Amino acid sequence: MLTHVPTRFQVFNKTGEHFHYKKEEVDLDLKKGEALVKIILSTICGSDLHTIEGKRKEDTPCILGHEAVGEIVAINSRSGFEIGDRVTWTIADSCGHCPACTEYGLPEKCHELFKYGHASVKNGSGLNGCYATHIHIRQGTHMVKIPDSVSHAATAPANCALATMVNAISHTKGTPKRVVIQGGGLLGIYACGLLKAKGVKQIFCLEVKEDRFPLIEQFGAIAVDARNAQKANQFILDLVGDGVDAVFEVAGIKELIPQGLTLLRPGGDYILVGLVHPDSQLGITAEQIIRKCIRIKGVHNYAPWHLDEAIAFLERNQNNFPFESLISPPFLLEELEQAVHEAQKQHWARVSVKP
Ligand SMILES: [Zn+2]
Ligand SMILES: [Zn+2]
Repeated sequence: MLTHVPTRFQVFNKTGEHFHYKKEEVDLDLKKGEALVKIILSTICGSDLHTIEGKRKEDTPCILGHEAVGEIVAINSRSGFEIGDRVTWTIADSCGHCPACTEYGLPEKCHELFKYGHASVKNGSGLNGCYATHIHIRQGTHMVKIPDSVSHAATAPANCALATMVNAISHTKGTPKRVVIQGGGLLGIYACGLLKAKGVKQIFCLEVKEDRFPLIEQFGAIAVDARNAQKANQFILDLVGDGVDAVFEVAGIKELIPQGLTLLRPGGDYILVGLVHPDSQLGITAEQIIRKCIRIKGVHNYAPWHLDEAIAFLERNQNNFPFESLISPPFLLEELEQAVHEAQKQHWARVSVKP
């Protein structure tokens, strides 16, 4: 199905170079199950900043950006979806027939994985990222319709940060009574809200930046000042005795792991999410893991059903948590570099961009 579309997008070449803002008329051949989506609002994820700063390598030149909400403007035979639907989509496209997709239950580890916002402009139509007016959604990508009551701003980070945390909390046994979250950035804040909504009684969120404490508390957790680790541990252990049922690592700092182990009760779950970088050699022994009978689980990205649950969670809880206050007012696509600078200042959990 042929579609002609005037597009605008920001191309990333390499660290230290300006983005290249381009306008292009694109002829697109939409195959069965594919869609062309007009971006309504995107947000700048920490992993985009890592790529821009050179801490992570991508296939360049590329259009960055993978967190977004959009509207279908063209679609080729995909049941349940039509032009005009407001949607989000999985950050990964999976084949549906390899062992990871079928046997392991990990389509996010598909052997033919394609990730939006991380692919060269030479891959497919080139419309592979969200810092653009349009994105080309492939056949193996799960799309989710957004309920009218859920705002653009609340939705934009759902297909990366929120869905990842839906995945992370699904690995606790039943409903834990007490948990610790190490890190109060967006992943940590979503963890607070998800666990609160799940009925967890005591949620402690360890964070060093005081300006994040009010949001942490609005999302249902007790903000614990992590600048003095000893004091923080004492405060938590005085309240929970044996330790907590689960610890979530979302700060990406390896030095925090021994602290997490101290706070975990015997037989607890340690769920690692943030340490997804090479500087992550852990300072704990197998003996500590064995003697405390703990379970360690790594979580990377998520599967389609986690994104379904993320959107359902937003719909159910829009009056319980201030989702919009996590997101900055939008910068224009033309101003992407200013938006990136704003994101680097960390005043907002997410900085948003609109075409
Ligand atoms: Zn992301
Ligand atoms: Zn696959």
